[in-house]
Amino acid sequence: MDKHGKDRRPRVAIVGSGFGGLFAAKALRRVPVDVTLISKTTHHVFQPLLYQVATGILSQGEIAPTTRDILKRQRNVEVLLGEVTDIDVANRELHSRMGPIRTVTGYDYLLVATGAGPSYFGHPEFEEFAPGLKTIDDALELRGRIYGAFEVAELQAPAGLAEPWLTFVVVGAGPTGVEVAGQIRELAARSLRHNFRRISPAKAKVVLIDGGDAVLSSFGPEQSAHTKAQLEKMGIDVRLGAFVDGMDADGVDVRYSDGRQERIEAKCKVWAAGVAASPLAAELARATGAEVDRSGRIKCLPDLTLPGHPEIFVVGDMVALNDYPGVAQVAMQGAKYAAKRIRDEQAGKADAEPFHYFDKGSMATISRFRAVTNIGRFRLRGFIAWLMWLFVHLMYLVGFFQRVSTLGHWFLAFIGRSRTEATTTTYQARGVRELRQLPADELGSTGVGLDPPGKPTDTSQLDLPATPADTS
Ligand SMILES: Cc1cc2nc3c(=O)[nH]c(=O)nc-3n(C[C@H](O)[C@H](O)[C@H](O)COP(=O)(O)OP(=O)(O)OC[C@H]3O[C@@H](n4cnc5c(N)ncnc54)[C@H](O)[C@@H]3O)c2cc1C
Repeated sequence: MDKHGKDRRPRVAIVGSGFGGLFAAKALRRVPVDVTLISKTTHHVFQPLLYQVATGILSQGEIAPTTRDILKRQRNVEVLLGEVTDIDVANRELHSRMGPIRTVTGYDYLLVATGAGPSYFGHPEFEEFAPGLKTIDDALELRGRIYGAFEVAELQAPAGLAEPWLTFVVVGAGPTGVEVAGQIRELAARSLRHNFRRISPAKAKVVLIDGGDAVLSSFGPEQSAHTKAQLEKMGIDVRLGAFVDGMDADGVDVRYSDGRQERIEAKCKVWAAGVAASPLAAELARATGAEVDRSGRIKCLPDLTLPGHPEIFVVGDMVALNDYPGVAQVAMQGAKYAAKRIRDEQAGKADAEPFHYFDKGSMATISRFRAVTNIGRFRLRGFIAWLMWLFVHLMYLVGFFQRVSTLGHWFLAFIGRSRTEATTTTYQARGVRELRQLPADELGSTGVGLDPPGKPTDTSQLDLPATPADTS
C-alpha cells in the first residue's frame, strides 16, 4: 500500500551525519521505523579535534570515519550521499542532489541536524584568505597552508622575505582559536625545530586576535586570565579589543577599541571567530513559517519540533532554544530526545517532557599538558584538566580503531615531538582549487568525481596550496 494508505513502518528521514544526525540514527536502532540518513559528506566529523588534523597530529580517518561504516550493522538504516536543497513539508518529501543526480526521499518524521558554518560578519571575501575550521576539507587546506608557509619561508629567507610567512594570525579567541594558536606555536617551537636550515621555526610569530576583552570568555574571568597568561608564556601574541577591518593575501588590517589601527603582515590566517547556522535552517523556516534568529538559527518549540509540524525535529547547532550553546552535547542530547519522542509516539505514549540540556561542562586545551576545564562549580587547570580533556575526547571519538590510533599519535606528538600526519599533497591542493572554480552544481559538495578514474595528475602543473603558491 501507500501514498499514503501506509501499511508499512514509519519512515524517519535524518539530514546530517554530525553529532545530531548520527546519534539520532543510533538511538533509533531498536525502534520499529525505517531510517534514511542523508548527508552531504560521506563521513561523521569529530569537530573538536579538527585542529589536530590541521596541525599534523591526527589523520582525517581518525576523527572522521565513514557514516556507512559506523551504521553498517544497523539494519533499519540506509545512508545516502546528497545535499538536501528543498523540503516539501506539505508532501513530506526531501529533495537532495549529488552532482547531477537528484533524489527524492519521503518521510513520516523528519530530523534536521545540518549544523553551522563560519560567519565572516558581513565580509565573505575574508574566507579566501582565512579559512574556517568546520570540515575535513578545511583542516586539510589549513594543514597545507601552515606547513606550506614554513616551506616558502625557507625559500624566501635568503632574500630577507621570510617574516610574513612565519607570522600566523588566528582570528577569534574562543576554544577553537586558542587551540589552533597553541598548536601552531607548539608545532613551530617543538616539532619543526630541527627541520629547516635557513629559518628558525621557533621564531615564528603567532598572533591571536579577538574583539572581546578576554580569551575563552565563556569560561569565566579566572580561567580566561589563566589561559591568556599561559598563551603569552608560550610566546603567543594575544591582542584583545581588536577587530579585523580588512584582509588580503599578504596580511590583516586591525582596528583596536581605543581607535588605533595596525597592519599585520601575515600570509597564513585562520578564522575561528563567528558561526552562522546552515542555510537549510532558513529554507526550513521558509517552508514552515518558523522564525530564525540573527545567526540564522531556527527557533523551535521546547520539544524541538517546529510550530504546526510535530513531525519535524531540529537538533544541534542550527537551533535557537533557551540560549543553549553550540556544543556537541546539545546536539547529542537533542538527538536522543527526538528519537525517544518518536519511539514513545509509536508506542502510543503521548505526553512528553520538554527538552532540557544537561550541561556536563566545558574544556579547552592550551597546549600539551595544559588545559582548562569547567565542571559545575569546579574550575580545573593544567595537567589534571588536560588529562580529563584527553580522556573525554577519547571516549567520544567514534570507533575502536580510531581511539587506539589516536592514542598512539598523541603519544608521539605530546611525549615525543613527531607529527606523523604532516603530509600535504599537491593533488589535494589542486582539488581545493578546482572545487573553488567549478559551480557547485557540477560536483555537489563532496568533491566526488573530481578527476575521471585513471586520469593521471599532471604534477608539473601543480604548486603549493593556495596561499603560499598564489602569492609567492
Ligand atoms: C573546530 C571546532 C571545535 C569544536 N570543539 C568543541 C568542543 O571541544 N566541545 C564541544 O562540545 N563542541 C565543540 N564544537 C562544536 C560541536 O562540534 C558542534 O556543536 C556539533 O558538531 C554540532 O552538531 P550538529 O549535528 O548540529 O552539526 P555538525 O556536527 O556540524 O553536522 C552537520 C552535518 O550536516 C551535514 N549537512 C550540512 N548541510 C547539509 C545539507 N544541506 N544536506 C545534507 N547534509 C548537510 C554536514 O555534512 C554534517 O554531516 C566544536 C566545533 C568546531 C567547528
